[in-house]
Amino acid sequence: EQLANQIAAGEVVERPSSVVKELVENAVDAGGSTIDITIEEGGLTLIRVVDNGSGIEDDDMKMAFFRHATSKLKTGKDLFRIASLGFRGEALPSIAAVAKVECLSSPETTGLGKRLVIEGGKITVYEDANTPQGTDIAVRDLFYNTPARLKYMKSIQTEIGHIADFVNRLALAHPGIAFTLKHNGGLLLRTLGSGERLQTFAAVYGTSAAKAMLPVEGEHPDYDLRGYISKPELTRANRNGITVVVNGRYIRSFIINQAIMQAYHTLLPINRFPLAVLEFGMHPSLLDVNVHPSKMEVRFSKEPELRQFIEECIGNVLGRQRH
Ligand code: ADP
Ligand code: MG
Repeated sequence: EQLANQIAAGEVVERPSSVVKELVENAVDAGGSTIDITIEEGGLTLIRVVDNGSGIEDDDMKMAFFRHATSKLKTGKDLFRIASLGFRGEALPSIAAVAKVECLSSPETTGLGKRLVIEGGKITVYEDANTPQGTDIAVRDLFYNTPARLKYMKSIQTEIGHIADFVNRLALAHPGIAFTLKHNGGLLLRTLGSGERLQTFAAVYGTSAAKAMLPVEGEHPDYDLRGYISKPELTRANRNGITVVVNGRYIRSFIINQAIMQAYHTLLPINRFPLAVLEFGMHPSLLDVNVHPSKMEVRFSKEPELRQFIEECIGNVLGRQRH
């Protein structure tokens, strides 16, 4: 069991940002309104995620740290999520196999909950605890028992860069949740959770960038689209400023990036890229998530239609801009 966990851990927990991804996605799934993330030393000494969501029931707490203990199979209508169930229920046990984890959680507003400590896959403490509703999970000394993995870690700056990139995008995907991200005591991100997309955008990219954004919208029998794209004057030297959300999940898609670039084609100098946050809604049957879910890669069944739809929506906005 422990070996299986360490093997699974190698797939799920590649680096500190993978831990952040799993913990923060759990926090989002828990449905609360605030998520506070504290990182020390690029995530190698501490990754702590505190949410005010549903919390974990007493009986489920230990279970959650053993493999395939997902509670999410029941959400049958969310086919998008079902499609990635191959990896469901592996995150917490994988993390607990390669770090020291402390979890406080309560499903009650009364503050009665549990505290669990698990190190290298072994539960060492399980007791009653006073803790606010929600979950507070701290991962310390990542890879302390897998030195080979530890050796592959890049600089603290690189690791926190990956973490911040992920949290920024997740915050953009969930403007209704108030996020904070702190690293070594410094505040890297604070979003208000007002539900205002542009406000979240300003928190991530700054207010002047937010002012240079144009709203984009579109309807199609298969898709709808809402979001913001930058005026051609506001560009950057890489694609990282493009954030794509499909059915509420932040994803990566080469095809969508290409369609966005195509819409700008004559407007941008070579090697300049727009900022964009685009949120799509579509029927889950139009998606294929049969790719490694941790990479968030998605394929679409009607690719040419989708491309054309995106190019038209953005083309309209930019065309209006030009006249
Ligand atoms: P999965 O997210 O695929 O179900 P995980 O290993 O990430 O698997 O988590 C296992 C289970 O622990 C979840 O299904 C959920 O029931 C519970 N859980 C984990 N984190 C939280 C959280 N922040 N709030 C509430 N429940 C949580
Ligand atoms: Mg999870």
